Amino acid sequence: MNFEEYVAKPLLAGVGITVPRSRLAEDPAEAAKAAAEIGACVVKAQVPTGKRGKAGGIKLAANPDEARGHAEAILGMEIDGHRVMKVTIEEQVPIALELYASIVSDPQSRSPMLLFSAMGGMDVEEAAETNPDAMRRRVIDITEGLSEEDAAAACAGLDLGGQEADVASTLVRLYAAYRMFDAELLEINPLVITRDGRVVALDCKLTVDDSSAPRQGEIAGRASAEKMSALEAEARAADLKYIELGGDVGILANGAGLTMTTMDAVNHYGGKAANFLEVGGEAYTKAHTALAILLKNPEIKSLLVNFCGAFARTDVMALGVVEAWKDLKPDIPVFFTIHGTGEEEAIALVKRELGIEPFDRMDDAVRAAVAATGARAA
Ligand code: GDP
Ligand code: MN
Repeated sequence: MNFEEYVAKPLLAGVGITVPRSRLAEDPAEAAKAAAEIGACVVKAQVPTGKRGKAGGIKLAANPDEARGHAEAILGMEIDGHRVMKVTIEEQVPIALELYASIVSDPQSRSPMLLFSAMGGMDVEEAAETNPDAMRRRVIDITEGLSEEDAAAACAGLDLGGQEADVASTLVRLYAAYRMFDAELLEINPLVITRDGRVVALDCKLTVDDSSAPRQGEIAGRASAEKMSALEAEARAADLKYIELGGDVGILANGAGLTMTTMDAVNHYGGKAANFLEVGGEAYTKAHTALAILLKNPEIKSLLVNFCGAFARTDVMALGVVEAWKDLKPDIPVFFTIHGTGEEEAIALVKRELGIEPFDRMDDAVRAAVAATGARAA
């Protein structure tokens, strides 16, 4: 789940990080009204991307009239594929220094990692590339957490305008928020030192682990809408995990692991998977919905069904597919390979009801499904 700035910054405020006063506005009149309360302000597009500044989605306004004008220009803009529907009207902050601070889930160390740079702002990526030393990295031991000393060590030797201690305590709070919200990424860019010596978060980006949605409760409901295809949205509504992959071999397998293995095998034999689709152990009850969604993808030229039973019985899964197939009557070839608990019954069922012989070996089924698309199986 991704959270936009206007949702994420109040969460920072909740752990004691200073953020500018801010109001949300959905039309120019609201923007002008908010600016009348706030004074000299910044009008900021609210879209889940870090490219707003460069795209003209962030503008300074000295008074309500200017704020109205900027809101008029920014609302409706498209930035990085996102249409701007909301802006924030934020108190202007006199910037002396722009820093970068984030906590990310680092796959290499399998730990949280603190990233910190005194060269923050809109060009932080370029700065980090041309000058790799500009980005400090510190792996955090999750059992120990991040102490003030660790945070101070990460900033040691950098000119932070005399605000070293405040910056260090901001980093400690940032890590606390990262833990509290089950974040995968919590980024402040820029974290600024103001001309009057305060440490203020001007922007914030938050990505929360999807699986923690239940325990994050109310916040989860404020995640920004994902970019999904119509079919992906339909699958989501039916509680299925479906991702379009652009190929033409449709894949229906039970379990995410087997599905990914099947995708790899399709690629290995020179084909391209059309989708990832996770039906789990519920292949029987969800087969109809799952197949219907798969088949609506106009790119699909063949279907590969790969079931592997342990606790879940493959004959029950096969029955779901057979019934759905008879009902939907798709005009593409289908290839089965079935192993594990209930396989004899499942294979007999597919032969009897569909007149199709499942393959003994998964490789052979994959090759046949790839060949049926017209691609030459390697
Ligand atoms: P992003 O481009 O989408 O990452 O948007 P940011 O919120 O990071 O803002 C981009 C840039 O706008 C910052 O790096 C600042 O230089 C500038 N900016 C944002 N808020 C203020 C502000 O209150 N005062 C001033 N002077 N500049 C600001
Ligand atoms: Mn930013």
